[in-house]
Amino acid sequence: SSFAHFGFDEQLMHQIRKSEYTQPTPIQCQGVPVALSGRDMIGIAKTGSGKTAAFIWPMLIHIMDQKELEPGDGPIAVIVCPTRELCQQIHSECKRFGKAYNLRSVAVYGGGSMWEQAKALQEGAEIVVCTPGRLIDHVKKKATNLQRVTYLVFDEADRMFDMGFVSTSRHLKPVSLPALLFSATFRKKIEKLARDILIDPIRVVQ
Ligand code: AMP
Repeated sequence: SSFAHFGFDEQLMHQIRKSEYTQPTPIQCQGVPVALSGRDMIGIAKTGSGKTAAFIWPMLIHIMDQKELEPGDGPIAVIVCPTRELCQQIHSECKRFGKAYNLRSVAVYGGGSMWEQAKALQEGAEIVVCTPGRLIDHVKKKATNLQRVTYLVFDEADRMFDMGFVSTSRHLKPVSLPALLFSATFRKKIEKLARDILIDPIRVVQ
């Protein structure tokens, strides 16, 4: 398969070419069309599979479609992940590819400075990458709001169960909001969570 199948515009293709990726990975081939369609998805994929780009590219296109529609100051896309390191990694991919459209990303994670993160959120960003709990703390303190969120990703969901993730996911996800859930494994817990928070998800396996 090739990148041409995705129908991305020249700005995004330019950023992808700069990354020197020659062809999409299997999870990208299968996942990108599902994410572009707006259907709920459960992706079973490990680190190294290219899963991050599989949800970032459709996210950028979704944001560009929404930005004019829903003006406001809160994020349009929220990516929830288990650790500070992963937050920073995903955030840097968002910045790299987000350059295609001048989109802004903010990383908010437990252990980082609440004040600095609040300041970054208040400057306005279309994308927020966060650990469970921390974004909700900022919402409670009114540093940001989730009124514009229409693209939601739970990455490495299987690593988030011990972090109050189930209640976070319920808090962040109204029933009607589509979501993508990625997990390295497909255990009973994930299956149950997927059934609880996703609607008729398409399953994509790396
Ligand atoms: P991930 O599984 O998202 O953590 O990605 C693992 C690594 O693969 C990252 O360093 C990406 O930059 C890289 N990557 C993502 N997509 C591709 C691709 N289509 N071709 C080559 N490398 C890629």
